Formats: sequence, C-alpha cells, structure tokens
Amino acid sequence: MSLRFASTFAALPAVTPFVGTEKTEQELGFRFSARLGANENQYGPSTNVVRAITNAAAEVWKYPDPDLHLLRGKLFERLGIPMSMIAIGEGIDGLLGITVRMFVEHGTPVVTSLGAYPTFPYHVNACGGQLHSVPYAGTFEDLSALLDNVVKTSARIVYVSNPDNPMGTFWSAAELQQFVENVPESCLICLDEAYVEYAEPNDVLPLSFTRPNLLRFRTFSKIHGLAGLRVGFAVGQDNLVRQFDKIRNHFGVNRLAEIAASAALDDREYITQMREKAVEGRAAIASAALRYGLDSVPSSANFVAIDCGRDGAYADAVLNGLIQKGVFIRKPNVAPLNRHIRISVGTPETTRIFGEALGQTLDKLA
Ligand SMILES: *Cc1c(COP(=O)(O)O)cnc(C)c1O
Repeated sequence: MSLRFASTFAALPAVTPFVGTEKTEQELGFRFSARLGANENQYGPSTNVVRAITNAAAEVWKYPDPDLHLLRGKLFERLGIPMSMIAIGEGIDGLLGITVRMFVEHGTPVVTSLGAYPTFPYHVNACGGQLHSVPYAGTFEDLSALLDNVVKTSARIVYVSNPDNPMGTFWSAAELQQFVENVPESCLICLDEAYVEYAEPNDVLPLSFTRPNLLRFRTFSKIHGLAGLRVGFAVGQDNLVRQFDKIRNHFGVNRLAEIAASAALDDREYITQMREKAVEGRAAIASAALRYGLDSVPSSANFVAIDCGRDGAYADAVLNGLIQKGVFIRKPNVAPLNRHIRISVGTPETTRIFGEALGQTLDKLA
C-alpha cells in the first residue's frame, strides 16, 4: 500500500516555487555584497521597534494572543479601521493563501496578470484553480483587460497589486476605484498594497474605501523593515474578514511580530523617513542606469525596473553578470516585462556597488 495524497495535491508539479537569497549564495559559494533582490528595507526597523522586540524577548515562553488585540487596536488607532474589519496573518503571503483556500477549488476560474507577484498563482495552483493570466499593457497591469477576463471567465477572484511588483507602476485612486466598481460582485478583488506607503499619499485610494467583494492587503515587511518577522494584515468588510477565523493558523503570527508591528505603527516619523529614503534611492538607481544609457520605469515602490534596451535574453545576461559580481537582484521572466531587471532601493553604499557592477557587466556584454 502506498500513501494516498489528495488528488489536487498529487497533480501538482514538484517545483521549487521560490529560490531564496541564501540558497543562491550557497550555490555561488560567496555572500552578496549588495542584497537588492527582495525589496527588503535595508535600513531595517526603527530603533524604537528594535527596543520593543528586545524588551519582549524574554516573554516568548508565552503563546501569542490569537486575537492579535494589541495590533488590531493599534491599526484602529493609527489607520482608523475598525478592529472587526482587520485580519492579521503571517505576511501578505500567508493571508493570500487563506483567501485562496476560501474561494478556490478544483477548476475555479481566477484572474491575475502574466508576470505579476508569483505567490498568488502559487496558492491558486495548490487549490487546483484555473488561472487566467492577462499580459501587462506596457509596464502597467492592464485593468480593462483584467476586467474583460473576469467577466468572460466568471472568475471568482481577481488579483491586482498597486503599486505593481515587478514594475513599480501605480494606478491612482480614481482609476482603481473605477476598476473595483466595475468588477461583478460575485468576484473577490484581492488588492495587494505591499508597497502602498511608498506611493504619493494623495493618490492612494483611502483605506476607508470598502466593498463587499474587496480585500486589501498590507504588510510590515517593506516600509517597516520587518520582513523576517512575517506579519501583515487584510482589510475588508466585517462578514468577509470574519471568514478568516474558520481556517487561519490562530497562533501563526508570533508574539514578537505583533509587538514589533504595533511599535512600528507608532513610529510615524520613521515611516516618513523611509519614504524619503526610497524617493532618493529610486532616483539614485535611475541615474546609475542612465549613466549607461538605460531608461527606468517611474516607480511608486521601493525598487526600480530598468529597461536593458534589448530582449529578455540580454536582460538575463545582465542579471547573471550582476549576480556574479556579488549584486543580488531579480527580474521578470515573461514578455513584455522580461527586458527589465528589478533593483531594490538600497543604502547609498549598496546602490553605489550596484552602479559599479552594472557598468562592468554592460562593458563585458558589449
Ligand atoms: C513583498 C511582497 C509581498 C510580501 O508580503 P509579506 O507580507 O512579506 O508576505 C506581497 N505582495 C507583493 C506584491 C510583494 O512584492
């Protein structure tokens, strides 16, 4: 008798969905001198946050609060969102997994963009969903084509990231609201706002904007510098958010993560500083690229997509050249995005290392 896996699970290919920075370092046999591939905040969390984690370290014998009362209260205090409209999870990645499990079973139609954030389709595949991937229009997620596809396929979920990853492009509040209002009520809109704090605040759809079929996802991994702690939240109407309680991992968000995230929300000045650092960092990356005649995509996030000016194979060669020089970056793999490389905002020092390595790489390929 052999083991009998669930049929949806057994049908999955045995792929490694995500190759970590550490694994790449192990394979190369050296450590990266600039870690610019995962859009982490190189400045780390604020000193107030570090102090809060340090002070709480000896308390980790206690289980975390499964209701995350402290953090949900802080989100209400800082963002004005009622606690009943907030679900906390192990980062956006964890929350997307639960959301997909709520709606997707074998053959369920789901719409996303071709080349968009890969964790979403990863979860859809795990549930046996039927993915419909819509090509980008230039460097933007194509909202009208996404909408057409939702209607055509009777999709149960549509995923949109704003600002977008990997391109950093951004739809303003008015454009996004129009899209949301046109999506049929039978289709859940997963609006991933991992980078929203980096966008121009006046252009962001207010967090108080809700719809019965809208979930908005935010994270402490990016601007708050807490990627290693794994905490994020979803905002939606009460009766939708309450559904998370049926299947979420109740102790999944750890005690230190809750304390750190709560302290991070209090440190408004740090958030402003990090936004300013990102604006400077984006400009520094774009000017490093321009020095070698390469254009960049205007970004509303903490990374910049640089157009390598030729085909995808050439951009792959640029990426590999940079990696060999100790600069870790990533790039999209599908057209029309694949002629770009994606560089995370670093410190002035890591951006300088990148610029130097880019020049040497391009010379070598010329
Ligand atoms: C980085 C990123 C995330 C990851 O968020 P976590 O809270 O760390 O899981 C989600 N969505 C997008 C588009 C991202 O780029």
